[in-house]
Amino acid sequence: MLALGATPSLFASPKAGRPAILGGDPIHQGGWSKWPIWEPETDEKRVLEVLRSGVWSRAGIVSEFEAKWAETVGTKRCLTLVNGTNALITSLIQLDIGAGDEVLVPPYTFIATVAAVLAAGAMPIFVDIDRDTFQIDPKKIEAKITPQTKAILPVHICGLPADMHSIMEIAKKHNLLVVEDACQAWTAEIDHKQVGTFGNAGCFSFQNSKNIPIGEGGAIVSNDDEFIDRCFSYHNYGHAYGSMVGVVGPGSQMPGTKLRLTEYQAAIGLAQLVRFEEQSQTRSKNAEYLRDQIKDIPGISPYRLYDNVTRAAYHLFPFRYHQEAFQGLSREDFMKALRAEGIPCSSGYTTLNTMPFLKTAFESKNYTRMYSKELLDYEKYMEHNQCPENDILCNEEAVWFTQNMLLGPRSDMDDIARAIRKIHQNADQLKKAS
Ligand SMILES: *Cc1c(COP(=O)(O)O)cnc(C)c1O
Repeated sequence: MLALGATPSLFASPKAGRPAILGGDPIHQGGWSKWPIWEPETDEKRVLEVLRSGVWSRAGIVSEFEAKWAETVGTKRCLTLVNGTNALITSLIQLDIGAGDEVLVPPYTFIATVAAVLAAGAMPIFVDIDRDTFQIDPKKIEAKITPQTKAILPVHICGLPADMHSIMEIAKKHNLLVVEDACQAWTAEIDHKQVGTFGNAGCFSFQNSKNIPIGEGGAIVSNDDEFIDRCFSYHNYGHAYGSMVGVVGPGSQMPGTKLRLTEYQAAIGLAQLVRFEEQSQTRSKNAEYLRDQIKDIPGISPYRLYDNVTRAAYHLFPFRYHQEAFQGLSREDFMKALRAEGIPCSSGYTTLNTMPFLKTAFESKNYTRMYSKELLDYEKYMEHNQCPENDILCNEEAVWFTQNMLLGPRSDMDDIARAIRKIHQNADQLKKAS
């Protein structure tokens, strides 16, 4: 080390330029914004009040959070529930989607989207995605519509809006319901209208990794009073609520379950909402800047937003990696090299439409009693649900950065871009070493 230090001009530059995975200096030395963020001074007052009050089960603070979220999103109503998964399940069930119904879903999503369709007893039908935008491809929807199709379940994946104008047009034409999975897309917008407000219901998640972290939590938003009343009733054992007539107390008039949020969760959520707007703007600025910095690196294709997107939530920053432009360096080796430079990254989702849980569901008692043998022919189903674009995205191209990485200073974005460029410049050497 002393010898190296004595001749900086000879050694400093090759070492600085050498990939960290081959012994060079990592580009990013500091950490990244931690997640979740919690500031005791400002955040704990309401939570402590709730804890000391002993009113922990659903009451005023939950209602306050719901009113605040409805106002933020721009809908008449909001109902919170234990998580986003159950927001989806409740929405599907209360829109009368179930046995025998087909629900169109993208394969590029978190498993919860498809799990919700199965939990409702409906049949998920996969519509391939557009690799440029990472979203469900509206041009491929109509080919998948059958007399059994009841709903479209678009996902605003990565927090980037799906093409809702086209999706709503198709839904209208074919008389289909639309449940938006906005579990990664809080306050993302198309033409200044927020996602989650286009369809019959919009579902959100407040799980701990999400941009509004509560630990666990979810919400359904809608302008349909009767629908939200029904969801409320369902999430509380079917007890009467709002337009759901009956008597509050024993003698529930509709089947239900219990999915209520707690008061202290809502108090945590209210604390998170205070900083949410500023964080969203920071993510947007950094994402746009980073996109600009990396878009011209050969072999790197950042996400494309649809032209009418006026705001994105950037739960993730996704881009596509093309190994041909990196001397054939595999995505796995590219990511290893990037991580060595101090830049955490992930290859994201695996192909949901090929996962064995679908086969297991088809073999279950419920499914074998709800559907014909022919509809449960797994080989046929697999054939019909192929998504070649999604296969390429999942298996070869996609790379993600997480939302908390977008909360740091602009120099963090410069580091990410420099690290990718460094790997590109040294791709030959990296490929040989791999
Ligand atoms: C997180 C997530 C969900 C489920 O939300 P939970 O609150 O974790 O149950 C559903 N869909 C997508 C796309 C998600 O990212």
